[in-house]
Amino acid sequence: MKILVLNAGSSSVKYQLIETEGKEVLAKGVVERIGLSGAVLTHKARNKREIKLTGEILDHKVAIEYVLSILLSPNHGVLKDKREIDAVGHRVVHGGEAFSDSVLITDEVIQELTRCIDFAPLHNPPNLKGIAAAKALLPGVPQVGVFDTAFHQTMPDYAYIYGIPYVLYKRHGIRRYGFHGTSHRYVSKRTAEILGKPIEELKIITCHLGNGSSLAAVKYGKSVDTSMGFTPLEGMLMGTRCGDMDPAIVLHVMAKEELTPSEMNTMLNKHSGVLGVSGLSSDMREIEENYHTNERARLAMDIFVYRIKKYIGAYAAAMNGVDAITFTAGIGENSDMVREMVCRDIEFLGVKLNREKNKQVRKQEAIISQDDSRVKVLVVPTNEELVIAMDTATIVANLVQSKA
Ligand code: ADP
Repeated sequence: MKILVLNAGSSSVKYQLIETEGKEVLAKGVVERIGLSGAVLTHKARNKREIKLTGEILDHKVAIEYVLSILLSPNHGVLKDKREIDAVGHRVVHGGEAFSDSVLITDEVIQELTRCIDFAPLHNPPNLKGIAAAKALLPGVPQVGVFDTAFHQTMPDYAYIYGIPYVLYKRHGIRRYGFHGTSHRYVSKRTAEILGKPIEELKIITCHLGNGSSLAAVKYGKSVDTSMGFTPLEGMLMGTRCGDMDPAIVLHVMAKEELTPSEMNTMLNKHSGVLGVSGLSSDMREIEENYHTNERARLAMDIFVYRIKKYIGAYAAAMNGVDAITFTAGIGENSDMVREMVCRDIEFLGVKLNREKNKQVRKQEAIISQDDSRVKVLVVPTNEELVIAMDTATIVANLVQSKA
């Protein structure tokens, strides 16, 4: 099947056209600066050169119209007719408690996602715009929603309930949801496949380390805990997000600095984390380059690594053991320095890194622990688009079967 995968953000739409039989990317790209001046479409079809087009793109519908026209273009496209698109798979950030799996998007699903806007005011509205636009432009083509939160719906209540009055959970849905679920699911499944063992027998800690970072404890194929919470702000120190801290700090700083809730929100999400601590950059490459010469770059990196270690320790305890630790996303796939620092001084857990191998691995699947390491350490590049395409194809195939 040919599946169009859409990831609609506030001012961008990322897309991939994937042929699911061969798991092949036929074309991919991104429309940026939607609704702003000088919008840009960057597009790359298989075996063709990358192109960039600029123009005015008012909204998500115009953006997706643009994407369809480039997919159909004789020079840069890969389709002759838009009817070749069998289905559309959407990345949806927040599915709340309603979705523990990917679903066919119906009017009821759209209603439920609209209710979830409260939880993800930045992310769900553009996701919904993407869905509406795709429905209008590809009428009759099945649309599937794949949720960042779904994989973590298997967490036990003691892992997702916060220590605040329980009524707030009932009244406002305040609980841990967790994010990056599509990535944690894919990476844990690949880890089991690479190790040649059934996932039902493995305890895996997946470390998704990118601009946003989260760890997950995946026991026998199910997420039992994860570091992001009610929103993606909790847990790891991230590029610009603070992660774990004493909630009393929020009230104290708001009072001292005379900040409004919105200003405080911006501080915690955009001016904190690696950027806030280092005062230098949110980009881990720059932090690495300055680690030995800039005291605050060192500090930011040390906090980043220390938190990963704390979560690994916590999740090993939560699962009563760990068989594999897997690194993924921008930092996890590329930074041998972060991987080495994380695996240093946790030998007691049974982790023995192969330091030479670790140095060579960039953006490729590999086992980077020593042969006699009890805990296997792996690098697995994440591929959320492929998961979305495969889930979409499965749901559509079942739909066709049930109609037959
Ligand atoms: P996002 O959360 O935006 O999807 P990515 O998974 O693309 O993020 O990761 C982006 C991060 O990966 C950036 O902070 C960047 O510093 C980091 N990164 C990319 N390449 C390297 C590298 N070679 N070494 C260290 N960090 C890297």
